[in-house]
Amino acid sequence: MNISEEQYRQIYEDLDKVSPVLFDCGMICGASCCDTERHEDLGMYLLPGEEAVHDRDDPCFDWMVDAAEDYDFPSSWTGDVYFIRCHGTFLCEREKRPIQCRTFPAAPHLTSGGELVLIYSDADVPYICPMIASEAELSTAFLKATLKAWRTLMGDQRIYDLVKQASDRRGDEVKVIWREAVTDAGAV
Ligand code: SF4
Ligand code: SF4
Repeated sequence: MNISEEQYRQIYEDLDKVSPVLFDCGMICGASCCDTERHEDLGMYLLPGEEAVHDRDDPCFDWMVDAAEDYDFPSSWTGDVYFIRCHGTFLCEREKRPIQCRTFPAAPHLTSGGELVLIYSDADVPYICPMIASEAELSTAFLKATLKAWRTLMGDQRIYDLVKQASDRRGDEVKVIWREAVTDAGAV
């Protein structure tokens, strides 16, 4: 079933309560992942249906509309996909950050055994994230909320297909930074 606007709003609310680390990591890298002045190509695709929780007139973002079929998306993605570019951290409103931004620097990975785990993001980006480079320890609350969010998101076949496509390409030689079994065992 396609993910609903209400589900997106709930995920946003849940992820608003957590941060990957307990300090402003932008202070160590000049907020590289937000810096569209330094990195012209920087931006992100919204997930299918995520546009419903955003206002196209919002001054935080520039919107571009592409056809899913023209890019390397799974075949279940059809029609319009939305690419947004930020206008910098000075205009950023935390509660408006898209999913891709909220769950960074973690990323979902589906093992060949079908287990959903988190890894450090290996997205092809034009900057180095010091948290990923140093394999910084991320907050447990953030990891738990992020895994839960991706589990809900992947109830939508299109998002499942996106995660599966990336996971199949990378294979199982990944460093897992969070899995539910770890949570159950209470090991943090
Ligand atoms: S997530 Fe990484 S690149 Fe982005 S501000 Fe934090 S340390 Fe910098
Ligand atoms: S939405 Fe905010 S936090 Fe996310 S990339 Fe844009 S400026 Fe950075």
